[in-house]
Amino acid sequence: MEKITLHDKTFKPFIPNGQIEKAIDDIAARVNLDYEGCEDIPMLVCVLNGAVMFTASLMKRLNFLSEFVTIKLSSYCGTKSTGTVLNIMGITGDVRGRRVIICEDIVDTGNTIIALKEMMLDKGATDVKICTLLLKPDVYDKDVKLDYVGMEIPNAFIVGYGLDYDELGRNYPDIYVLDR
Ligand code: 5GP
Repeated sequence: MEKITLHDKTFKPFIPNGQIEKAIDDIAARVNLDYEGCEDIPMLVCVLNGAVMFTASLMKRLNFLSEFVTIKLSSYCGTKSTGTVLNIMGITGDVRGRRVIICEDIVDTGNTIIALKEMMLDKGATDVKICTLLLKPDVYDKDVKLDYVGMEIPNAFIVGYGLDYDELGRNYPDIYVLDR
């Protein structure tokens, strides 16, 4: 794997695709164990745009009936969290009376995921689970339990596998880290 350049910054290889897919296998196995044989139809809430690749991979591995909806939120500007979570585009389905699994690419401060969990409960979801491919445990400072976590990473800015730097880099199957 080679370094990549996006806008004004260079990124070096960090997590190869094989390792990402393995982490998703593990998450899917845990989700399947919890929902197998369920009589309701849980809703997967994909947080746009970053979680598209992760949610698509995860869905292919789930062996119970589910619905897929999206919501667009944003808290990042460039390589920094702004601390304010903006609801850019409303949710594409009705979560009232439903069990929800939020699918997120990465949890950093946790502001996004906590705001989203509250939003889903306010809209009448009966249960909200949080599922994230990546977590920065050194930054996450909330008490809310993260139900499914694929991999923990240090506090660094990454791109690839859906994650962007000012809209570039989402298409790479591997994950890259900012090269300082
Ligand atoms: P939080 O609200 O937990 O601080 O941030 C979560 C959101 O910030 C993620 O959904 C993602 O969009 C963005 N984010 C956090 N860390 C990174 C990172 O290292 N790289 C990229 N590209 N986005 C990140």
